[in-house]
Amino acid sequence: MLKYKNHSEKISLIREGKLSLRENVSDFLKLIREKPELNAFNSVFDDCVGYSEAIETKIKNGNSGKLAGMVVAVKDVLAIADRPLTCSSNILRNFTALYNATAVQKLIDEDAIIIGKTNCDEFAMGSSNENSAFGNVLNPVDITRVPGGSSGGSAVAVAAHLCDVSLGTDTGGSIRQPAAFCGIYGLKPTYGRVSRYGLTAFASSFDTIGPFAKNIEDIELVLSVISGYDEKDSTSRKMGHTVSGLKINSEDKFKIGLPVEYFGDGLNMEIRDSIQMKIDLLKKNGHEIMNIQLPHTEYSIAAYYILTTAEASSNLARFDGARYGYRSAESNNLSGMYMNSRTEGFGSEVKRRIMLGTYVLSSGYYDAYYRKAQKVRRLLKEDFDRAFGEVDFILTPTTPTTAFKIGEKTSDPLAMYLEDIYTTSANLAGLPGINIPAGFDQKNLPIGMQLMSRQFDEERLLNFCRVFDM
Ligand code: GLN
Repeated sequence: MLKYKNHSEKISLIREGKLSLRENVSDFLKLIREKPELNAFNSVFDDCVGYSEAIETKIKNGNSGKLAGMVVAVKDVLAIADRPLTCSSNILRNFTALYNATAVQKLIDEDAIIIGKTNCDEFAMGSSNENSAFGNVLNPVDITRVPGGSSGGSAVAVAAHLCDVSLGTDTGGSIRQPAAFCGIYGLKPTYGRVSRYGLTAFASSFDTIGPFAKNIEDIELVLSVISGYDEKDSTSRKMGHTVSGLKINSEDKFKIGLPVEYFGDGLNMEIRDSIQMKIDLLKKNGHEIMNIQLPHTEYSIAAYYILTTAEASSNLARFDGARYGYRSAESNNLSGMYMNSRTEGFGSEVKRRIMLGTYVLSSGYYDAYYRKAQKVRRLLKEDFDRAFGEVDFILTPTTPTTAFKIGEKTSDPLAMYLEDIYTTSANLAGLPGINIPAGFDQKNLPIGMQLMSRQFDEERLLNFCRVFDM
């Protein structure tokens, strides 16, 4: 029995004795086994059924946590104690985590049931899940197409009903873009709202953790649980207030900005038309729509790929064969061991980024690339500050195209990087952004639209999303 609208309905069904949590968890496990070709999971925790009866009793006794019985899949870049933590990389193929990431610990503390770790691009680098050392993840809507990335497995797990919700990470779009390709909601929270402790770092000043779900209520609920200050992450914010679930008054009218730079060349016409229909709906409901400008948008991809590769080259230095995971058997001295372990352990996209990042940080080039990109980052942030002086929310497409064919962009990294054109700015500026399903194209592929708000304004952002449900 997997049919309920959202978590609160699931809880009611369990309370009324209409749904057995044990059966529910077993059904999810069965479905995962029946769809191995999707390849959404790197590891599945069959033993999680064992928690279901105790949690069901707690639900019936009224002393259960906020996420009691919610079946959650977790991207395989987040640590879960005593479980594999591979980052979909050969270098960590046999690595087991020693502790729980804070976000995971918070789920467990609220009685969620973790069903497994999801496949993703290696170290979360990619937009199609084709960079995983454990094989492609297929898009359940059309299995000849990619699910998006890097959190492809997390998006597919939700879209294909293999769990209730999932956690992904978003450094430049890796929650919003796969959510768009799979037709579900995916929220990238404000940088600093969710602790990164236990998240394998890709680009530390960009990395965020957030939920995927088929409805806004569950996004809101999971965010309220994983948010908050954590002394183990010095970039998590003290003001990490939780989402209260307050509804926006239906009389409230908002100003919504459409950045002209996001609706220009390169945007697929069907996506443009679908979003226009949503804009018309907003107008009909009395909201004010206005064009705005974010003039530094054209530099966002360049700045993003300079800064994130620089941070990655530093973060990934720790995988050297000495401390974590894979060690090459082929070496007879220390530097040879480092070199061979990294050569054999990392995939080609990860190597490309380490090399790019090392280059942009090298003496003589630092000012031309890294420092310049930092300045662009500031200018982009100021574009948004100005825009949010005028509007409450910013509405854009999430992606320039719908889900593309497997293999279509693998030989052209620049074409792949351009997939991130509408998503990287929110990470550069630290803003929250959500993918909202916005219809289908003529091939029946999901279309996604992105809504962004001021920092730490997720409460209104999520409540406002409900207008599109009507
Ligand atoms: N597609 C982007 C990249 O390859 C985003 C990745 C992410 O958000 N983790 O870097």
